[in-house]
Amino acid sequence: PIALGTLWGGPLAGLVVALPLIGLRVYEMNSGTLSALISIGVLILLATLTRPGLNLRHRNRYLNLRDLPRVTQVFSLNAIGTVFAVNGVATFSQIYLPLLIMNVAGLYVASAVVQHRLGILSTFRTALAQSRLDALTGLANRRQFDEDLAELQPGETLLMLDIDHFKAINDFHGHAAGDAVLREMGRFLGSALRGSDSAYRFGGEEFAVILRGDSPPSVTQISERLRRQVAALPPAAPSLRPITVSIGAAVHTGHPPQDTLRHADQALYRAKNGGRNRSVLWEPPPPAPPAETA
Ligand code: GH3
Ligand code: MG
Ligand code: MG
Repeated sequence: PIALGTLWGGPLAGLVVALPLIGLRVYEMNSGTLSALISIGVLILLATLTRPGLNLRHRNRYLNLRDLPRVTQVFSLNAIGTVFAVNGVATFSQIYLPLLIMNVAGLYVASAVVQHRLGILSTFRTALAQSRLDALTGLANRRQFDEDLAELQPGETLLMLDIDHFKAINDFHGHAAGDAVLREMGRFLGSALRGSDSAYRFGGEEFAVILRGDSPPSVTQISERLRRQVAALPPAAPSLRPITVSIGAAVHTGHPPQDTLRHADQALYRAKNGGRNRSVLWEPPPPAPPAETA
């Protein structure tokens, strides 16, 4: 472990790994203490010197036979401290070779275990990140949207964007053209927002955006800007015409977030019914007139 720690993180890391052993030896304070401390010190030194050549930190780096001279070098003075003890030279010559073999084999096995575990962790991290991304557009996906929607704060705004007459693109130009349009929308939304805002592929040809901290007038400005920018995008394929989107916006006021989603949806529905290529901000219905009394 001390050699592995040093090869991995340098002499300080090796020292940290060795601390329990050093502590124990110092606590015992007998004739073997000095020998042990010397052996540990020499090991850390040799591992530090060998470290650049072995480069264990490299990803997927498994020790192979070509590393044997360097690994042996790390342990070439193992148990050297024993020569300072009584009858030390005899003990040293007895234990040197078996200890060397054990240490070399141990480093091969231990570093392989560590690399393997790191490999699994990195695969897991990648899979975790991918599980929240939409494969086609590269935007955050519905799973991420549902999580973020649940955490929506009052004052934040939800925009629902729906590409107008998208089915016609599929029908007349094929699914590949439709996919190209969706990718283009993903690229656009990924670059058109401030760092604090988030864009999602909600599903199909529908996208969602969460804006942080905007008042209703600026929400209208932002959704109008997005709408105009989409209409001005160059077509995703030469044979296609420019696309437009309809946008429904709703500011979250602290009701359940699902209400805000419903409001944005209703606003989107109004934008569609109003002729498409427009944005609508949801507004609460006017209070009902007081009931007449007889
Ligand atoms: P509207 O203006 O009312 O929104 O009309 P529309 O044609 O955009 O809406 P509609 O909901 O009728 O059609 C959506 C289409 O989106 C239908 C579906 O085949 C297509 N679609 C959904 N997901 C994908 C996808 O991943 N790739 C492609 N190419 N098409 C998709
Ligand atoms: Mg739709
Ligand atoms: Mg549509």
